[in-house]
Amino acid sequence: MLQINVSQQLKEPIGATRSCEVNDTVGIAGTDIQVEGEVTLTRTDRSILVRGTLYTELELICSRCLSPCSCPLTLRIVEEYFPTIDIMTGASMPLPDEPGCFTIDKHHILDLTEAIRQYTALSTPMKPLCRENCAGLCPSCGYNRNLGECGCLPPDVDPRWTALRKLVVTSNNDL
Ligand SMILES: [Zn+2]
Ligand SMILES: [Zn+2]
Repeated sequence: MLQINVSQQLKEPIGATRSCEVNDTVGIAGTDIQVEGEVTLTRTDRSILVRGTLYTELELICSRCLSPCSCPLTLRIVEEYFPTIDIMTGASMPLPDEPGCFTIDKHHILDLTEAIRQYTALSTPMKPLCRENCAGLCPSCGYNRNLGECGCLPPDVDPRWTALRKLVVTSNNDL
């Protein structure tokens, strides 16, 4: 459940908690991802504090061999959600001076969708790998070296490098 009605909990004393199962799909950048886990909601003096661990998996492209790979993510969520309406009086509530803080809407719905989007974006690796020791593509022929040897000479034997090394050694000797 990503949209949680907290009207009851807002009337409860500070410290009151409840748990909510999450097993939903969230649309992120045009793709639906499955998110699972559990969050605990705690009533604080000014908000509902959401804490929990959610699990998801993204389909990414390996940064070394360019093969599709699935990347499991763990989202450790800790966020305060501020009510916009006073549950007792119906008056609108001033929000804290925190840019981008999450709010509970006028129907007392706490929506986890945006937090999940943000946490997913933050935990997505910049350089995903299909496996820790991915061998990548051959720089000469582009063959995926996870599938075996392509037959190109190793770069150490490249004659241009040998020539360059001689040059380096010579210039070092001149110093
Ligand atoms: Zn790879
Ligand atoms: Zn090659």
